[in-house]
Amino acid sequence: MATLTYKCPSCGSPLVFDGRSQDMTCGSCGNSFETETVQQVNAIEQKTEKEPNSTNWQVEERPFSPEEAARTRSYSCSSCGAELLTDETTVATNCAFCGSPSILPTQFTQDTRPSVIIPFTVSKEQATAMFHNYFKGKKLIPNLFLRNNTIDEIRQLYVPYWLFTCQADAQITYNATQVRSYRSGQYRVTQTRHFVVNRSGTLDFRDLPVDASSKMDNEITESIEPYNMSGAINFSPETLSGALANRADVNSEESKRRADQRIRTTTENTFRSTVMGYDSVIPRASNIQIPDGTSMPALYPLWHITTKKEGKTYTFAINGQTGELTCNIPFSMAKLISWVVGITGGITAVGFLILFLIAYLGVLT
Ligand SMILES: [Zn+2]
Ligand SMILES: [Zn+2]
Repeated sequence: MATLTYKCPSCGSPLVFDGRSQDMTCGSCGNSFETETVQQVNAIEQKTEKEPNSTNWQVEERPFSPEEAARTRSYSCSSCGAELLTDETTVATNCAFCGSPSILPTQFTQDTRPSVIIPFTVSKEQATAMFHNYFKGKKLIPNLFLRNNTIDEIRQLYVPYWLFTCQADAQITYNATQVRSYRSGQYRVTQTRHFVVNRSGTLDFRDLPVDASSKMDNEITESIEPYNMSGAINFSPETLSGALANRADVNSEESKRRADQRIRTTTENTFRSTVMGYDSVIPRASNIQIPDGTSMPALYPLWHITTKKEGKTYTFAINGQTGELTCNIPFSMAKLISWVVGITGGITAVGFLILFLIAYLGVLT
């Protein structure tokens, strides 16, 4: 006879059948369960625990037509290695990444053709004003940035993305507890109630962006997202006029892997956020299936601004559609310390940490 090991619904250890009580007891946590309960929990879990499937992605990968290729110019930067594209009317003189003038025309080689492009709606003047306004009213900016913030370079750049659209079907089972403690006579009683929580449902993902440029820092692109796809138009070489586009050099296989990861994490987090009212929640079994989906290459607009201070280059990136801004300027630790000490004198370490977080999250962003 095949033996089936039942696992304890609360702690996962093997259960043994207790002939006297007709229950199943756990030697590890001391709980006992009715056989029927254990069988029900086991059935839910077996249904839930499945290997992730491999998704059938429909990739929209078309080459440039010969006419389009003839109207496209390609460049390569001998300083940073960036591969760039533009239309035939735009003369590229500087690299859109590093600003180096050592940018050379190259032979156009076939490449992933963008399907759609979101044009710039933020003008160069607006982007410049956003850069200057950034420093106003920020108390913890290092002194270095208080005056003469001149733009070293401002460059108009299109960043390549893969956009993923799919549906994720998920079923996740959690172990949850509610703990209650009360006094009864001379005893303090702690009562722990154990629950098996089951969630299932479907999540829709539409145009989930995955950066297709290995040159562009993912941290920068992620902090100026999202872009609004209602502003997207069909790509043609002319839509690049005046700007440089980075070639997509992260292939669709690698992008699929990153999209898959992002979809699964988002699904897990969304499902977890619906399990409320418990003192502890631990995922026990999970089954996320993404049967099929589509993936499309696109270009997103970005203003890339650099400023030099004492030999260091600081980068600003502005979403060319929404104006969302991100930068790598640090805040002044010296100013923060003098600010905190100045206000409070004998502040505690905890207070300092809170102020640190306020400064980090609120004052500078
Ligand atoms: Zn147990
Ligand atoms: Zn360069």
